[in-house]
Amino acid sequence: MKKYDLVVIGGGSGGVRAARIAASHGAKVAICEEYRYGGTCVIRGCVPKKLMVYAAHFHEDFADSNFYGWSPEVRGFDWVTLIQNKDREIDRLNKIYENLLSNAGVEILYGTATLRDSQTVSIEGQLLQAGKILIATGGTPFMPDIEGVEHAISSNEVFHLEQQPQSAIIVGGGYIAVEFAGIFNGLGTATTQIYRGPQILRGFDDDIRSHLGRELVKKGIDLKLETNVEKIQLLDDGRRRVSLSDGSEQICECILFATGRTPNSTGLGLEHVGVKMSWHGEILVDEYSKTNIDNIYAVGDVVNRIALTPVATMEGHAFADQVFGGIDRRADHSNVPSAVFSQPPVATVGLSEHLARERYDQVDTYSSEFRILKHTLTDNQERTFMKLVVDRDSDKVLGAHMVGTDAAEIMQGVAIAIKAGASKSDFDATVGIHPTSAEEFCTMRTAD
Ligand code: NDP
Repeated sequence: MKKYDLVVIGGGSGGVRAARIAASHGAKVAICEEYRYGGTCVIRGCVPKKLMVYAAHFHEDFADSNFYGWSPEVRGFDWVTLIQNKDREIDRLNKIYENLLSNAGVEILYGTATLRDSQTVSIEGQLLQAGKILIATGGTPFMPDIEGVEHAISSNEVFHLEQQPQSAIIVGGGYIAVEFAGIFNGLGTATTQIYRGPQILRGFDDDIRSHLGRELVKKGIDLKLETNVEKIQLLDDGRRRVSLSDGSEQICECILFATGRTPNSTGLGLEHVGVKMSWHGEILVDEYSKTNIDNIYAVGDVVNRIALTPVATMEGHAFADQVFGGIDRRADHSNVPSAVFSQPPVATVGLSEHLARERYDQVDTYSSEFRILKHTLTDNQERTFMKLVVDRDSDKVLGAHMVGTDAAEIMQGVAIAIKAGASKSDFDATVGIHPTSAEEFCTMRTAD
């Protein structure tokens, strides 16, 4: 039996980072992956999605350019070209991940790994003895139990559709649903988004939710709120008939469920070893990512503290530093910024107004809504919205939120300020970069 200081199960963002850093601290490390190195983010998540978001935005850019004197000749959009080019890039990244691991001295294994006992991992008939085991197996799309759901796809399949659907229904109101509604709509697919609640992006600031909801409708998405899918039937011509809870029916070529993700924690032998999990399947860990079993740790979506790639990476890095680097390091889950690459995009850091009011006595909000300078020459009616949430007593900025062009790029910098504990006076004292949208974060003087 081969012996390792660390065996990592799962070759996504969290597992790969942990394996590399542990190896750099001198540990003997093996990593196991059953699909492709890179994980959800690289293979069928953040990266290919963002490439598709770029693709979808061009039609607006072509239209806007007319107002700047250009007359682009657009002959159409070719789905196959996009998918092939995207796949080539994903193959490149997949190899980069493998190179990073092998250059760090990590042994790369392929196959489904399971725990024989708390110190033995089995993969493809091979047994590995592990000083420590890290579970970083990520998550999997959740498909609700609806009649005919087998005729729908999840975000795993959406990246590999052979043809662009002429019509699509996207179910859900979270990150993936709004992102793919924007992608399909931007590429010219007749797009309906169906969400069971009163407004999309539950958990985000309410003003952001309603602003984005309005913008999506302006862009042409048929957004049906407080609606559920009841049944899906496959028609002879290959399309789907979708029955909705409002009594209506809709025919579409593709129906995508983006209804959340569940942790990949079954079939690994975790129950057999006695690792504690929540009822939903998330592995329960302490602040050092340690499970109830002394030498078994878990990071990333399988723990689901915050299901974001950079969070998984942070957790994996902190684990490796703590356990193999002799550095006392915990992952810090406060003020994690995030973006939704909808069209227009959303970005946020810190508390929503709603949460701030629950936690603080006196909360002020500052907001601004406007058309960006670029669109003063175009007929593009997109509007940008920015908001700061401030604790009146300490003057501390508790949250920043934005819907609009470049929101994610702008919010990364704002997140540094908020992480550093910036006050509203610090924002006010910062000179804006003119003319930008970002400067609004420094010029909002009057509370709402
Ligand atoms: P989310 O949890 O963001 O959204 C799931 C959506 O599906 C919610 O609107 C939820 O409604 C709805 N839903 C859940 N169950 C059902 C059901 N049975 N019937 C109808 N609707 C249902 O999950 P996603 O799948 O969009 O994404 C998973 C995670 O991946 C995200 O939470 C995020 O952490 C990460 N991600 C991050 C991205 C980024 O950073 N840009 C991009 C994509 C994913 P309700 O709100 O009512 O519960």
